[in-house]
Amino acid sequence: MRQGHGRPAIYGNHPTGMNGPRKVHIKSFGCQMNVYDSHRMADTLAPEGFAETAAPEDADLVILNTCHIREKAAEKVYSELGRIRVLKQAAAREGRRVVIAVAGCVAQAEGEEIIRRAPAVDLVVGPQSYHRLPALLARVARGEAVVDTEFPVEDKFDVLAPPSRAATRARGVSAFVTVQEGCDKFCTFCVVPYTRGAEVSRPVAQVVAEVARLADAGVREVTLIGQNVNAYHGDGPDGRPWTLGRLLERIAEVPGIARLRYTTSHPCDMEASLIAAHRELPSLMPYLHLPVQSGSDRVLAAMNRRHTRADYLDTIARMQAARPDIAFSSDFIVGFPGEREQDFDTTLALVDEIGYASAFSFKYSPRPGTPAAEMAEQVPDALKSERLYRLQAAIDRNQAAFNARCLGHSFDVLFEKPGRHPGQLVGRSPYLQPVQVMAAPSMIGEIATVTITEISANSLFGTLLAPRARAQTAMLAEIGG
Ligand code: SF4
Repeated sequence: MRQGHGRPAIYGNHPTGMNGPRKVHIKSFGCQMNVYDSHRMADTLAPEGFAETAAPEDADLVILNTCHIREKAAEKVYSELGRIRVLKQAAAREGRRVVIAVAGCVAQAEGEEIIRRAPAVDLVVGPQSYHRLPALLARVARGEAVVDTEFPVEDKFDVLAPPSRAATRARGVSAFVTVQEGCDKFCTFCVVPYTRGAEVSRPVAQVVAEVARLADAGVREVTLIGQNVNAYHGDGPDGRPWTLGRLLERIAEVPGIARLRYTTSHPCDMEASLIAAHRELPSLMPYLHLPVQSGSDRVLAAMNRRHTRADYLDTIARMQAARPDIAFSSDFIVGFPGEREQDFDTTLALVDEIGYASAFSFKYSPRPGTPAAEMAEQVPDALKSERLYRLQAAIDRNQAAFNARCLGHSFDVLFEKPGRHPGQLVGRSPYLQPVQVMAAPSMIGEIATVTITEISANSLFGTLLAPRARAQTAMLAEIGG
């Protein structure tokens, strides 16, 4: 049931007891999927009279959209809730009611425990129930403390309000679109299969319609996202499940969309149609985040990653054959239970062998309820820190080498926003590097060829070669990792 059209009681008689527009502050933690979900929550609340605010002290409704991936995630949420409770108390002294909601994976995992430990919280809502927010807030307005962590039968994407043109424009020229949620892989360190549930894919037509709406509002680049995005198997218009490769082919036809990306991928799901899409679609950027987690077969098996180091390298080789200028990024976990020095050495060697353009690395930390948390041979924290330091040095070295190879080359940059200095714009290279260029503000949303003249640790600097608004030039093969 869509509550928005009927304006439930909360919004005629809203929880703050004040008239006029309400304000919602949504704080997103964690991954891009949470950023996307936060946007969709804001879109669902907009027809109910809620405008977004960046200032929590101005808000009538504060939503913490939480992430369970990092260490002590729940504890961090409780300490953030302590800060917001102070705002709620200050507002109450002024006769204003502030509603506090906790969403996201910590909400899903902790459920009622959140309200027990933090009674200032009015609403706990899991990721599958965001379309019910108006109805849930109406119950809060009636004085209930509400917990909804169900996996409802209705498809939330059928019900969630689409963004307005104005909201889409305000969010910039690059947008995320969730195409898949959940995971069936059950890596032994990961909570996602428990917090986000089994894999579900959105139908092709629904995704294409959303991308077309974004393009119509000026979006030039779309990143398809999912916890395990390349396991996508949404219903196609022919009534059969489509792969991510076929979906990308279809989306590449949407007028106005110049760049496509997708994340996060599992190495086992890099199937033939997806690799073919990299060969055939110029708008599919030559940059792939392909988490490996470890370079050791022993550790990969203990992680239940379902592939070996050789399988991973074979996938990398097939991607390079399809798209010679492709570069890679990855995620790594160091200090997984049972990781020995020789395992760690194979991870370091893999970093150098692939020459990642970028990578994220973390110390293993146990997540309650996951198999790895119960494993013997937990690695001491000091050793994890020491390995992380060495791994990050290897990653930084490879990233610096990749950036150095860009110097003097030209490639297409999508301009996103004003840069740090007057007259400067910042855009993204095909490899997601920020590129600072002196260019007119009217070029925001344009793609132009830029020659890289200088590099720093985190940015590239360049000059416009030949402004043009076209999809994508062929990249210089030698840049790819
Ligand atoms: S594939 Fe990714 S989301 Fe799924 S269990 Fe493994 S790490 Fe978690």
